[in-house]
Amino acid sequence: MAFQNILGNRRVKTILSKALQRNRVPHSLLFVGPEGVGKMETALVVAKALNCLQKFDDSCEECTSCVAINKKNFPDVMEVSPQKDVIKIEQMRLLKSTAYLKPMVGKKRVFIISDAEKMREEASNSLLKILEEPPSFSHIFLCTNNPYLILPTIKSRCQVLSFAPVFKEDIEKVLLEKGYEAEQARVISLVVRGNLKYALNLDWEDLQEKRQKAWQVLFALIKKENASVFLKEFSSSRFLGRQEIEQIFELLSSFCRDIVLIKEEGDLSHIMNPDYGQDLREVSGLLSLEHTLDFLRKIDYSLYALQKNLNVNLLISSLFSHFME
Ligand SMILES: [Zn+2]
Repeated sequence: MAFQNILGNRRVKTILSKALQRNRVPHSLLFVGPEGVGKMETALVVAKALNCLQKFDDSCEECTSCVAINKKNFPDVMEVSPQKDVIKIEQMRLLKSTAYLKPMVGKKRVFIISDAEKMREEASNSLLKILEEPPSFSHIFLCTNNPYLILPTIKSRCQVLSFAPVFKEDIEKVLLEKGYEAEQARVISLVVRGNLKYALNLDWEDLQEKRQKAWQVLFALIKKENASVFLKEFSSSRFLGRQEIEQIFELLSSFCRDIVLIKEEGDLSHIMNPDYGQDLREVSGLLSLEHTLDFLRKIDYSLYALQKNLNVNLLISSLFSHFME
């Protein structure tokens, strides 16, 4: 994988390739951004470019260095990932002892730490010493989707590169290229919140079930029928994980957006759930525009709050009490 194979995040890629051209890649970089947007892949491209025998601002994917790095068979590029959910002090000790040794076969040593937020304090402190005085031939790239859990002392010694979620349109395009049907591509790109990796691994049947569930929830709430059952079902954390709740909220939001579109007599080719067209039209007659917009705002706030790790049950009760008034 070279820069051009990484979808989106053009700004970050430009910064990095310019730094490579000027031979000024910082020794410590912190790659920050949501899951599945290509942080690790980008770090790996930089590691390859730093060691590539043909190119200097990208990986060529052909030379012996690029090939060996892709096969994880290059002694100067080391990936460190959590073991049983923790990055251990021993892993950092190994990194430290290697970082001061000159590269064995390549031009630069590169250490890529995935899920860097899983470093405990002692592991972080151990890393701190190299970040303070890095050897000229070593680079340390940390990747995280939760920068709030990285010690400020670590963060302040790294240059931070922020990755954005991949655009829905880009994800939709990739899925279409992979042979997904138009409707599938649209719905999947909608619910994955910019996570390309997730989009490519999503089970369509499973997603259809969730859409149905989201629709039933919305329908029951609007009709004020069986809503308590759904509320109960939703509130049980055994039933749904945080990510699933996020998906269902995202789907609820898409249904509400469609209802708004129908009520405002907008261009129906923009409808996100065309296969629910008849149901949507029926329901839109039962709701006022104000009420729908208000619900939509609350769902969007809940999605934001879920990301900030607020209490799921509280969010759900407050969201649904809106309909029960
Ligand atoms: Zn190469």
